[in-house]
Amino acid sequence: MPRQRARLLRTVIVCVFLGLLIYLFWPGSKELPAQSAQPAAAAVLDFDSPDSTLVVVNKKRPVPADHAPQDLADAGGVPLRAEAAGAYRQMAAEAGAAGVPMSAVSGFRTGAEQDQLYVSYTENFGPEAADAISARPGYSEHQTGLAIDIANPDGTCALESCFAETLAGSWAAANAQHYGFIIRYPAGAEHITGYAHEPWHLRYVGTEHARTMHDAGTTLEEYLGLPAAPGY
Ligand SMILES: [Zn+2]
Repeated sequence: MPRQRARLLRTVIVCVFLGLLIYLFWPGSKELPAQSAQPAAAAVLDFDSPDSTLVVVNKKRPVPADHAPQDLADAGGVPLRAEAAGAYRQMAAEAGAAGVPMSAVSGFRTGAEQDQLYVSYTENFGPEAADAISARPGYSEHQTGLAIDIANPDGTCALESCFAETLAGSWAAANAQHYGFIIRYPAGAEHITGYAHEPWHLRYVGTEHARTMHDAGTTLEEYLGLPAAPGY
């Protein structure tokens, strides 16, 4: 019967419409797809927080002047954040066992200490030379407690580019990534990092990131897709 079919059709339409309304407005019914669409990887890499082991500090990215890590520990006579300090002690011990003695020259520096260092370089060598060999206060990676300057205990090529060819320098370039450290300012990357080759300046990022960066031969800026920081 046409009338009965029309009523049936109307009932079906009303049911479908009600079902649609319930689906759209039922609490929580749409939360699952929205949650699963969130990118998982992007949230993990925190390079902004000064307390993140992946924080990027360069001539474009300062740290707060009064920032100081709260978990400093001993790394061969200099202070580093606990996780980095433990990694350094293990690295130095295993380098020593392999016949490569290694010592630590400089670790965490406060903003005030960096200020003194920069002022003394400026007074002695002029502002241009000071910028080339030292970070301005607030722009030093050493203030994060994640950077360490290493040396040969006999002082061979200390804080000089020839350190790369010495025992400790060449061992660190080949092995530091296994302890979570990268050579932060590699040769030929001054246009990206803002610093000439510093084969003695190691930066802790954790073993996973350090190995990836070492194997790919990339700087920290490139690895995280950040813009180059050749100058202030
Ligand atoms: Zn350094």
